[in-house]
Amino acid sequence: MDKIKFATVWLAGCSGCHMSFLDLDEFLIDLAGLVDVVFSPVGTDLKEYPEGVDVCLVEGAIANEENLELALEIRRKTKTLISFGDCAVTANVPAMRNMMGNKTAEPVLERGYIELADENPHFPNAPGIVPELLDRVLPVHEVIPIDIFMPGCPPSADRIRATLEPLLQGKTPEMVGREMIKF
Ligand code: SF4
Repeated sequence: MDKIKFATVWLAGCSGCHMSFLDLDEFLIDLAGLVDVVFSPVGTDLKEYPEGVDVCLVEGAIANEENLELALEIRRKTKTLISFGDCAVTANVPAMRNMMGNKTAEPVLERGYIELADENPHFPNAPGIVPELLDRVLPVHEVIPIDIFMPGCPPSADRIRATLEPLLQGKTPEMVGREMIKF
C-alpha cells in the first residue's frame, strides 16, 4: 500500500505548533511508518510544495504576499488541509496588528521601522526579498477552504495525535476540543 503523502507548512506563526508536533514523541516513529513526509520545515529541505499531497498541517496566519501565494498553492495541491493551531484558525497573535487602526499595514511598518529605529530609520527597500505585508492578517480559512480545524496555542500533542490517527486510517476525525473555540 502506498504511504500517505504528508506535509506541514509554516506561514505567519511562531513555530510553536511545529514544536508541539515534535512532542508527539514515540508516535512520530509510528507516523514515519505510515507517511512519506514530502514537505515540512522540520522534515525536509524542499523549497517547492509538491503535487498530490494527501494531508497537510498548516501553521500560522496569512500575513504577507508569500503566505498568500503558498496558501493558494497548497490548496490546489492537497486533498485534506488542516488549520493547525490558533494562528491558522483565528489569526491569533499575528492579527494583533489589525488593531492598530487604519485598514492597512502602514501603522505597523511605521512603528517598527521608523518610530522604534535606533538609527537610520527607513522602510524595508528590498522588493522581492522581503515579502510585502497584506493590509490585514487573515485566518487561513478566509483565504482558502479548510477541511479540518485544530485549535490551540499550540494544540497539545494529544490533540494532534487524536486528529491525525483517524485520518491516517481513512476515517474522519472528530474535532477535538471543539468547546474551546470561541468567536
Ligand atoms: Fe505560535 Fe500559538 Fe500561533 Fe502556534 S498558535 S504558531 S504556538 S502563537
